[in-house]
Order: sequence, then C-alpha cells, then structure tokens
Amino acid sequence: MKRIGYVGLGIMGEAMAGNLVKAGFDVTVWNRTESKASRLREHGARWAGSPAEVAEVVEAVCINVTDTPDVEDVIFGRDGILKGNPGDTAELVIIDNSTINPEATRDFAGRLASDGIELLDAPVSGGDVGAMAGTLSVMVGGKEEVFDRCKSVFEAVGKTITYCGPSGAGQATKACNQILCALNLLGTCEAMALAVREGLNLEKMLSVTTAGAGGSWSLANLGPQIATGDMNPGFMVELLNKDLNIVHDEAKSLGLPLPGTHLVADFLRSLETAGFGREGTQALSRVIENLGGFRYAGSGG
Ligand code: NAP
Repeated sequence: MKRIGYVGLGIMGEAMAGNLVKAGFDVTVWNRTESKASRLREHGARWAGSPAEVAEVVEAVCINVTDTPDVEDVIFGRDGILKGNPGDTAELVIIDNSTINPEATRDFAGRLASDGIELLDAPVSGGDVGAMAGTLSVMVGGKEEVFDRCKSVFEAVGKTITYCGPSGAGQATKACNQILCALNLLGTCEAMALAVREGLNLEKMLSVTTAGAGGSWSLANLGPQIATGDMNPGFMVELLNKDLNIVHDEAKSLGLPLPGTHLVADFLRSLETAGFGREGTQALSRVIENLGGFRYAGSGG
C-alpha cells in the first residue's frame, strides 16, 4: 500500500497523517477546516476538495473525526468517501481511527460491504503525545486479511498494533481502554489531593509513584499538568464524556453495572456543564479541588 488518504486533521489526525508522510506514503488529506492542513501540505501531503475526492486517488482512507455521526457523514454524506469514483473504490479500505460506537461500526461495515469497500475499526490510545511520537496503541477490528494488508499503515503511526477480532472488536477494546483512562485519572487526582493535604512535595510523589505499581499513563502525563494548573487539552473533557457515553450504552445493553466509571462520567458532565468541556481531561482535578477545598497548583510542598 502506497497511496493513503487522511480525513480529519484535528489533534490526533494531523499528527498521525504527519507520521504517514514521514514514513514515505503518498498522502492525500482533507479536513472540514482547510487551514488545519497547511503544515501537512508544507511537508508534502496533497490536498483534496472532499472525502470523495480523497477516495478517488488512494488505496486506503483513514478517518479521524469526533463521533459516530461524524464518521457516518464523511463516509455516507453528500461528498463522502462512498461518492468517490466507484470504479476506483472497488478495492478501497477505510480505516477508522476515531473512537465511536461498536454497534454503529458493525452497521457501517455491513453497508459498505455491499459496495465492495472494507472497513477496519482502528481506534488508538496514547494521546497527542503518542500520536506525535508514532507510538500509539492501535486496536483493530474487521477481517484479518484486510488487517494484514494494512499493517504498514498501522506501523507508521503506532508501536503496539493488535488485531482484536471481527468488525467492532477494535471499538469495544477501546471502550475498555476508556474505562481505564477514566479511573486512572480519578486515581491520579485523588492521590495528588492527599499529597497536597499532607504537605508532600508533589514532584517527588509523582516521580516515585509513577515508577511503582500505582503508575499509569494518566499519572505520568497528566499528573505534572495538574501540579502546575495546565489545563491545555491533549484530550478534551467533552471527548472523554463522549467515550464514557459509548461505555454506558454498551454496559446497559449487557446489563453490566460499572459504578466507578459512572461516577467519573458524572464528574466530567458537571465540568462540561460548567463550561470546561474543551479543557484537557486533567480538568477533573477541578472537581476534586472543589470537593476538598484546596488547590494543587502553587501548593508548594
Ligand atoms: P479534535 O482535535 O477536536 O479533532 C476533531 C476532528 O474531527 C477535526 O478535524 C474536525 O474538523 C473533524 N470533524 C468533526 N466533526 C466532523 C464532521 N461532521 N465532518 C467532518 N469533519 C469533522 O479531536 P481529536 O482529539 O483529534 O480526536 C479525534 C478522535 O480521536 C476522537 O474520536 C477522539 O475520541 C479520538 N482520540 C483522541 C485522543 C486524544 O488524546 N486527543 C486519543 C485517542 C483517541 P474541524 O477541524 O473542521 O473542526
């Protein structure tokens, strides 16, 4: 595979498309807001006027947009991928890197199969940091032979690449991942709350616990941001809310109680209602600060 399309150049998509360019693929991009493609174009990516135009010139199109209806729109919408030249799309593979609903993914894959287009669900984990470094975890659902054909694409953006099973299995695995992100983030905020109230040196506490059995991605990457009050988003509150809604829908359909995850979802919803939805998920620390009547940043220690 040589000619790859990338649709959706947000925080994750721009970095991942950039790594495809660096790996030597011939990359054609589209984004709803055209200006976000300018850095990639400077580095050699081509611009296409719509997802349909991308599909006309590539063998595989990666998608990285916000939510389930957005994926549906860029595939099946007015100028969507499906509207690309049918002759040329006969062998087309769509690789969806967005985090969306597993059930909807299976529905999309079924609808695309009748047009001879294969869909792989390939959500990622590792944040903006992993996207820039090309070290993401990629969890893939769909036909295994199609996964094998696309392996070089995954290797350009990720380090841990796992075939999880049939269509939807990648998204279901990502839902498990988001439970871990939510609960590890709450653990990070609570451990740091106790450290502040104990008068500990936060930097030292983070350094030693990150290397121990309590370590997590949240602790290593978001802990230092919480300590300095840096709420800039790598991953926005409103996106984790969206993911926990997916978890909620799956758990509800399985009759499975997930009390810890629901608690974090409620806290995150309160943040979004209060206008902090576009801050990074480390803004969960605001809720714990308000409950405990203290501040992390400037706590000294
Ligand atoms: P982002 O920076 O907000 O980017 C979202 C992208 O989707 C933008 O390019 C946006 O276009 C596009 N988009 C949204 N709705 C669209 C629509 N209806 N039609 C066309 N384009 C549309 O978000 P992100 O952080 O890159 O996240 C993208 C996906 O990756 C999400 O599913 C998220 O859950 C997942 N993810 C994110 C992270 C992370 O750490 N950030 C990690 C793992 C997975 P505009 O530029 O025009 O707005």
